[in-house]
Amino acid sequence: MDPVISISNLSKEFSTERGEQFLAVDNFNLEIPKNSFTCIVGPSGCGKSTVLRIAAGLEKASAGEINYKGAVIEKPGREIGLVFQEYSLFPWLSVIENVAAGPEFAGINREKRHEEALGYLRMVNMLDFRDSYPHELSGGMRQRVAIARALANHPDVLLMDEPFGALDAHTRILLQRELLKVWEMTRKTVVLVTHSVDEAIYLADRIVIMSSRPGRIRDIIDVDMQRPRSRAMPQFGKLTDFILKALEQG
Ligand code: ADP
Ligand code: MG
Repeated sequence: MDPVISISNLSKEFSTERGEQFLAVDNFNLEIPKNSFTCIVGPSGCGKSTVLRIAAGLEKASAGEINYKGAVIEKPGREIGLVFQEYSLFPWLSVIENVAAGPEFAGINREKRHEEALGYLRMVNMLDFRDSYPHELSGGMRQRVAIARALANHPDVLLMDEPFGALDAHTRILLQRELLKVWEMTRKTVVLVTHSVDEAIYLADRIVIMSSRPGRIRDIIDVDMQRPRSRAMPQFGKLTDFILKALEQG
């Protein structure tokens, strides 16, 4: 099957404060199949966010390119939805207005966009909070709204950068489970960046392991475990061990 996103020979250099060039991502190659769930894991600073920001059209590649359905991604577009760790919802808009903001911008009428927003809020279990404001919500609730908001734009691909990174362990596990449900319902192509090996194994079809300085792909692993997965499965433990060792060597 044709990949939805195709990353070829991608490199990214930054200039340091001292004016030196610093290679953050080095010759990164990856094809993302339609409807797949890919997780990218790697130590802090290995270039995960940089790769995702280029895929989102928020940053330019120094060399190589990222394609969406065969065309180079050069700026943010509706086909590619984003959920980041601290995805700032608009504080002055209610939950439902936040979710409907994209469709409003696209000129969808109020009735239709609110009806759709309600559907997505139901999907992420936030229907009861439709009239609340972001400051009234917990971190986990805000990330649920952020997911609903991304989905309301009908993206083809969902890019998620440490979306649960700021949440407590229990809420994190809850949201992982819900994200899988949403993914099973919508079958969006998901690329999720995390430094949590456990999260990657719980969620992904395929795990891309990065090493740092410069950020390179160290290994790509297919996860052949049935969902819902349990941390108590022997394969889960084995895979955790394997990936942690690979990361240590990086
Ligand atoms: P990760 O998300 O894996 O933690 P990042 O992609 O954020 O890593 O960063 C990779 C490397 O590039 C880091 O060393 C970081 O300091 C550097 N970097 C990221 N963005 C910039 C920038 N805008 N200017 C300079 N250096 C940057
Ligand atoms: Mg990051």
